[in-house]
Amino acid sequence: MNKMMNVEEIFGQNVFDLPKMQERLPEDIFAEVSTVMQQGGVLSMTAANVVAKAMKDWAVENGATHFTHWFQPLTGITAEKHDAFITHPNEDGKMIMEFSGKELIKGEPDASSFPSGGLRATFEARGYTAWDMTSPAFLKGSANGVVLCIPTAFYSYTGEALDKKTPLLRSMEAISKQALRIMRLFGNDDAMKVIPSVGAEQEYFLVDEGLYKQRADLMFAGRTLFGAPAPKGQEMEDHYFGVIRERVAAFMADLNEELWKLGVTAKTQHNEAAPAQHELAPIYETCNIATDHNQIVMETMKRVATQHSMRCLLHEKPYAGVNGSGKHNNWSITTDTGINMLDPGDTPNENIQFLLVLACIMRAVDKHADLLRQSAADVGNDHRLGADEAPPAIISIFLGEQLEDVVKQLVETGAAESLKEGGTLETGVSTLPDFEKDATDRNRTSPFAFTGNKFEFRMVGSSDSIAGPNTTLNAIVAQAFCEAADRLEAAPNFDLAVHDLIKEYMSEHQRIIFNGNGYSDEWVREAEKRGLPNIRTTVEAASTLTSDKSVELFEQFGIYTKAELESREEIIYETYSKTINIEALTMIDMAGKQIIPAVVKYTKTLADMVNSLHDAGVDITVQKGMLESVSKRLAAMQTACANLKDVDRKARNIKNAKEQAFFYMNEVIPAMEALRAPADELEMIVDKEVWPIPTYGELMFEV
Ligand code: ADP
Ligand code: MG
Repeated sequence: MNKMMNVEEIFGQNVFDLPKMQERLPEDIFAEVSTVMQQGGVLSMTAANVVAKAMKDWAVENGATHFTHWFQPLTGITAEKHDAFITHPNEDGKMIMEFSGKELIKGEPDASSFPSGGLRATFEARGYTAWDMTSPAFLKGSANGVVLCIPTAFYSYTGEALDKKTPLLRSMEAISKQALRIMRLFGNDDAMKVIPSVGAEQEYFLVDEGLYKQRADLMFAGRTLFGAPAPKGQEMEDHYFGVIRERVAAFMADLNEELWKLGVTAKTQHNEAAPAQHELAPIYETCNIATDHNQIVMETMKRVATQHSMRCLLHEKPYAGVNGSGKHNNWSITTDTGINMLDPGDTPNENIQFLLVLACIMRAVDKHADLLRQSAADVGNDHRLGADEAPPAIISIFLGEQLEDVVKQLVETGAAESLKEGGTLETGVSTLPDFEKDATDRNRTSPFAFTGNKFEFRMVGSSDSIAGPNTTLNAIVAQAFCEAADRLEAAPNFDLAVHDLIKEYMSEHQRIIFNGNGYSDEWVREAEKRGLPNIRTTVEAASTLTSDKSVELFEQFGIYTKAELESREEIIYETYSKTINIEALTMIDMAGKQIIPAVVKYTKTLADMVNSLHDAGVDITVQKGMLESVSKRLAAMQTACANLKDVDRKARNIKNAKEQAFFYMNEVIPAMEALRAPADELEMIVDKEVWPIPTYGELMFEV
C-alpha cells in the first residue's frame, strides 16, 4: 500500500451536504432548507442568499473559483457552463468573490444548441436551470481548477422539460403519491412519502491510452468498427471475478477515493466477463441522487483512467464477439419510515401488501413492456440487447422458483396453501417463505428480475443515463397503483377486494413471467406466442413514446406532456442518425487511409515475391494462392467502401428525421457490415507487421 486512506474522513469531503449546511447556516435558515428538501416547495430569497453565501464560502475555502449549474440535457450526459464567482472590482480595485441566492436557485445558460427536438424555437431559445435541492452541491476538480457544481433541472421559457432530471423528479412525486394510497389501505398512516431507491451497477472497459490513440474508431465512435476476434476471448471464464491486475487496481483505488470524496458510495468492484471489463457498484440511494451519482461515476471513471494512461470505454459493445457492458438498475420503493414495499415481510398483512404490489408491478410491466424496453434503448445498446450474454430485447419478469409458484397457485386456486417452506395464512394466502436471494436469482438472462427485495432492470446500457429508465419505471408502477387504489378505496369489503384484485392482475398478466433461459431461441418463439413485444432496435422503439397509451400515462401523472414526448422521439432519431453517420465516416476513413493502403503495399510485397520465386523456378502455389486471396478481399473492401460512401451520402440528404434514422438502420448499417467483413478476414491472413491498427488481442489483453 503506497498510501493510507481514511475513508471516514474523506467521504463526502467535496459535497456541501446536510452536516456542512447545519454547521454553516443559522438555525432558522437550516430548518427552512431541510423542510424544502423533504417536502418540496421554494426557498425564500432571504434563505437562498444565506445558503448561497455559505456554499460559496465553503467552496472558495476549498479552492473553487467558479460555479456551474450542472444539468442533464437530452444528450444523456451532463453539461456545465462555468461562471467565476468574481464581480466588478470595488473602488479600491479589490476583487470580491460573490454568489447570490438568485444565482444559486436559477440559472440561464445560453444553451440553445442542446437538442430540444423542436421544443424550443430559436426565438424563445432561452433555457433555465433550477437547483434540485434534494441533490447536494459538490466540488469538482480538474485541470482548470475547482468548480462548485449545483445539480439543476433544465427547462424552457414555457416550462417544458429540456432535460432528464425534470421528468424523473415528476415521476418520483407520482409514484410517491400513488404508493402512499396503497400504504394507507393497509393501515399505514405515518408514512408521508414513498421514495424510489436505485443502485446502478456500472460496467466498463479499460484500454491502454497508447493503443486507443491508434484507433480512430475508439476515439470517434467509442467502439471498434473493425477487428478480427482475438485467439483468446472470454471462453476460459478466467477474467470474471479474477484477480485484478496491478494497473487496474491502482486505477480502482484512485477512482474509489475520488468517488468517496464526492459522496458516492462506491462499494464493490470486480472484473467482469470479458477481458479488460470491470464493474463498479455503489450502495443504493434515492433515485434522483443515484442518477446524478451515476453521471459522476461515469465522468470520474473517464477522468481517472486518463490519469493512469488508460481510457475508459462506456460503450455498450466496444468489441464484437465478447460480452457487452450494461448498467443493472436495482430499483425498490421505500417509505420515509423505512418500509420497503418490495420486501415480502413476515406477517400475513405484510405478505398481502407485498403480493398486491407485486401484482401491480406485473400489470405495469406487462401493459407497458414496450415503454420499458424503449427506456433502455440507445444506439450502442442495439448491439448488446438480444446478443449473447445480454438480456434479450423482450421484456419479461423473473420471480424465482418460489415466488413463481406462489403466483401460479394464486392464479389457479385463488389461494396459496402448499408453499415451499411456508407456514399458513388466514386469508387464503399462506405466510410467504423468505424470498431472500436464493440460488435461482442467478438467472442472469432475465431483463427484469426480482432479487429478494428489489427489482433489477438489466437492460439499461452502460453509457446511458438511468434517468429515463427510472422515470418510466416510476410512471408505470404509479399508474398500476393508482388503478388498484381506485378500486380498493371504493370496495365495501377490503379483504375480499384485495384478494380478488391480486388474483385478477396476476391471472391477466401471468404471461410476463418467465423464469427460463432468456438467451434461447425458444424464448423468442414462446414470447411471440404469448404476444409479448420484441422490439429489436432503438429506432423501432422510439415511437412507443408517443403512442396513445404512453401519452395518456405520462400526461395523467404530469410527467411528460405530449410535446415533451414528441421532442424526445425526435431527438432519438437525430442522435441515432448522427451516431451512425460518425461511425460510417470513421470506417470510410480507416478503410481508405489505413487498411486499404497497408494491404495494397502488402500485395506488392507478395507479388514481388511471386515473381522472383517464379524466376527462380520454384513452386509458387502457396504464395500465389495467398496473393489471390488477399487481392479478392481487397477488391471487396474497395467496393464496399465506395458503396458505404454512397449510401451514407444518401442518408445525409434525407430531411425527415424518422425516415432518416430508419434509412441509417436499414441501409447504412448493412453497408458498414459489408465493409467490415472483408477487412476482418484480411486481418487474419495478412502479415501482422503490416496491419496498421492494434488488434483485439492487444486492446483487450494489454491493460
Ligand atoms: P448483485 O446484483 O451483484 O448480486 P447486490 O444484490 O449486492 O449485487 O447489489 C446490487 C446493487 O443493488 C447495489 O448497488 C445495491 O446497493 C443495490 N441494492 C441493494 N438493495 C437494494 C434495494 N432495496 N433497492 C435498490 N437497490 C438495492
Ligand atoms: Mg446485479
